[in-house]
Amino acid sequence: MTLMDQTQPTAEVTTRNPVDGSIVATYPIAGPAEVAAAVARARAGSAWWSGLGFDGRRAYLLAWKSAIARRADELAGIIAAETGKPHGDAVLEVMLTLGHLDWAAKNAKGVLRRRKVKAGLVNYNQHASVGYEPYGVVGVIGPWNYPFYTPMGSISYALAAGNAVVFKPSELTPGPAVWIAERWAEAVGHDVLTVATGDRATGAALVAADVDKVAFTGSTATAKKVMAAAAERLVPIVAECGGSDALLVAADADLDAAASFIVFGAMGNAGQTCAGVERVYVVESVRDALVAKVKEAAERLRTSGADAQYGPMTLPGQEEVVRRHVEDALRTGTAAVGGLDSIQGRTIAPIVITDVDERSDAVQEETFGPLVVINPVASLDEAVRRANGTQYGLTAAVFTRDKAAAARAAAALRVGAVSINSVLGFAGVAALPFGGVKASGFGRIHGADGLREFSVVKSIARQTRKAMLDLLTMDRTEKDLHTATRMIPMLHGRAKAPRG
Ligand code: NAD
Repeated sequence: MTLMDQTQPTAEVTTRNPVDGSIVATYPIAGPAEVAAAVARARAGSAWWSGLGFDGRRAYLLAWKSAIARRADELAGIIAAETGKPHGDAVLEVMLTLGHLDWAAKNAKGVLRRRKVKAGLVNYNQHASVGYEPYGVVGVIGPWNYPFYTPMGSISYALAAGNAVVFKPSELTPGPAVWIAERWAEAVGHDVLTVATGDRATGAALVAADVDKVAFTGSTATAKKVMAAAAERLVPIVAECGGSDALLVAADADLDAAASFIVFGAMGNAGQTCAGVERVYVVESVRDALVAKVKEAAERLRTSGADAQYGPMTLPGQEEVVRRHVEDALRTGTAAVGGLDSIQGRTIAPIVITDVDERSDAVQEETFGPLVVINPVASLDEAVRRANGTQYGLTAAVFTRDKAAAARAAAALRVGAVSINSVLGFAGVAALPFGGVKASGFGRIHGADGLREFSVVKSIARQTRKAMLDLLTMDRTEKDLHTATRMIPMLHGRAKAPRG
């Protein structure tokens, strides 16, 4: 159910297709009162939803998934219209997302059901168990670049864990949110998933409302504001933020594969991917060969017309950020593909710049456009050091045929996910958690950790019999204390530091 059904809009957001500027749709802007009402309805819905248990929720979630899947092409059309991405990319987004929804629905019980843990020798008289319970209502705030896949990384897992969700989509892309809420209303019919369309103020109102957790995906700058606002009520957040992700190429790498993945990772979705490739570090001996292959593949891309392989910048004004980064990179670097002329309004042809100063904005900041920097390094170790040299730490990729070297690099990279010999390899594997470190955020969506992220852990210790050595009483004896004193070194006093 959306707020459009519930309230008389006082203000509206109008979405436009970035490709031709045509109006796509108009949505109400929910104010604080409407958002509070949506959260209250979700609160009521959450009681029914959590009461269903894992099996009941699984059945409804799979029915919702099927309702979306049966009209997947229609959803892809809405995604494409509001983001400007090619229809085929939107179809891929829908497919990837439904894989996650399926996994979350089918695995919530196995991951979250109450399980027994060992109580240990001293506590032999306790039956100990851990359970994962829903928070209640989760407020989800989403970005526009993957308007279905990205917020659903939170929504699917939060719902499967038994929470109700109020979803505030980006003001650029409310369409998919409203559409999936309609499918929810048809397939499930309770106020468990509610959408509040609107702008930044609507997002702020959601954080200030009576939600029990906030799942935020967007820029690092906004995440800081959301975190500060959530701190007012000590509400926990998961923050999925930006990145300036690096791809590392060793001397023994398959250069054709690396070049193909570089172009896909850097230029796909016009570079507007949080975990897209923004920097390449290549070992000097294969640098010329790699740059030549990247150049050949990037120059073949079609970036305008009906068969364009990526669309224009979705966010109006983003081309100015790209321009600033290109200008800065060209102060020290050399253009291998394109340059400032590649920026034609919001349509930007591929730009590849080599030998860029590590301090430049193109290296240190998130560009979010079809620009990639390729810098030579002496070794894979140096590549790792440079990859770790920004404030961000979302993901990285390593190309080498040497499994041990790849594993060493993956271990040393300060990021939340690593692909070896591909890019974004983790994104479709539902069992793999996703999230960043440092300024790229914290907390995890996807996988078992994603289900636990939306759960409150509850420990239960059930006493099965009176303890022989009973210390949890005001009436403990001198003899009991004496026994305890003698037990401590026996239990805990035997470890020695390893030699050398
Ligand atoms: P943004 O930070 O501008 O906005 C994100 C959302 O926050 C929008 O819905 C917006 O309305 C809302 N918002 C803005 N101000 C708010 C406030 N004060 N309180 C509450 N909500 C507020 O980001 P964007 O431009 O929509 O998205 C692009 C960014 O998202 C990039 O940095 C990208 O890397 C990041 N991103 C990260 C991931 C990830 O999983 N790590 C995925 C996709 C995108």
